[in-house]
Amino acid sequence: MDFKRVVIKVGSALVAPDGKGCSGKYLLSIARFISHCQSQNKEVILVSSGSVAAGRKLIAHGSPNPSIASKQAMAAVGQMQMMANWQRFFDFPCSQLLITHGDLKDRRRYINIKNTLRILIENQVLPVVNENDTVATEELKVGDNDNLAALVAMVSDADCLLILSDVNGVYDQDPNKAADAKLFTEIDKIDDALYAMAGGTNNKIATGGMKTKIQAAEKACEHGITTFIVNGSRSEVFEALLRGENPGTKFIAQQSPLKAKKYWLKHTLKSHGSVVIDEGAINAVVNKGASLLATGIIEIYGDFVKGESVNITAHCGTRVLAKGICQYSSQDLEKIQGKNSNEIEQILGYCQSKEIIHRDDLVLLNE
Ligand code: GLU
Repeated sequence: MDFKRVVIKVGSALVAPDGKGCSGKYLLSIARFISHCQSQNKEVILVSSGSVAAGRKLIAHGSPNPSIASKQAMAAVGQMQMMANWQRFFDFPCSQLLITHGDLKDRRRYINIKNTLRILIENQVLPVVNENDTVATEELKVGDNDNLAALVAMVSDADCLLILSDVNGVYDQDPNKAADAKLFTEIDKIDDALYAMAGGTNNKIATGGMKTKIQAAEKACEHGITTFIVNGSRSEVFEALLRGENPGTKFIAQQSPLKAKKYWLKHTLKSHGSVVIDEGAINAVVNKGASLLATGIIEIYGDFVKGESVNITAHCGTRVLAKGICQYSSQDLEKIQGKNSNEIEQILGYCQSKEIIHRDDLVLLNE
């Protein structure tokens, strides 16, 4: 596996197996793999399921199908246990991010999640993400952590998504029923036939099945993120991954994440306003690959909230030079335009970021 930043999704069946709450049974080899990646300067973000499964024993419900409120209470108590279970395997700090689909859809919250992940990684803190099950309502839920992990891989600009499950990968038929079921080692096209082959889940404690894993792979691959589904309950799988082998199913992304991101910024994301920049800023942004700072901004047009995309134009013409995700709303940007980055805090009372548009979130239109 050749990657710089990986999102690793760990399913409930590995975190809290056998309906007995949290366990270290499978996490030890997963944690060892994560530590190994870190020691090779690879960046890791963990998406961990298991809060509901871990809390199940601790909330009285007396029913095989607990109510939504009971499940939310299970998640509240199980999340603590799950985090403590992870932390005991690492000698670096873990951090907890609980998010919903509503957070990822909201541009302001999206940019907060993105910035937080960036800073945690820079500080060698392991982000552990889960859906905020206690507050999420049906319409604001991602619903399963496979799809959540794909969204996290996109928001964090990862180049690899590794889905750890208790199955070996994608088969052409159910391996529990057919002895001659064949494992797909590489998939470069995700179509209806593949979904039909994959079916749902047989595992009572897992939310997703193969279907949500393929959905996740499809989302990730569209964004240039290579995806693997492997069996995380077998320690030899991690040894194989570290040797650069593929022990499960690999979904091949057709383009690089950088190219996919630039395409998304350029063609998919709608601009909500524009900023006009001076000669110095044009030189920095266009010729030097720098981020856009407040000092180079001369004018602002449109009404946008932080996290929305804006066009960057030159003062001497109307040609759009670049596009990018803005860290400040138009209202706040008006107060800090032309100012030095270290004056931002004093003027606004907060400093979201020293960059107005971070280079990672900017694309030149002639690229
Ligand atoms: N967020 C759920 C939990 O922690 C898991 C969802 C999933 O496994 O897909 O229990």
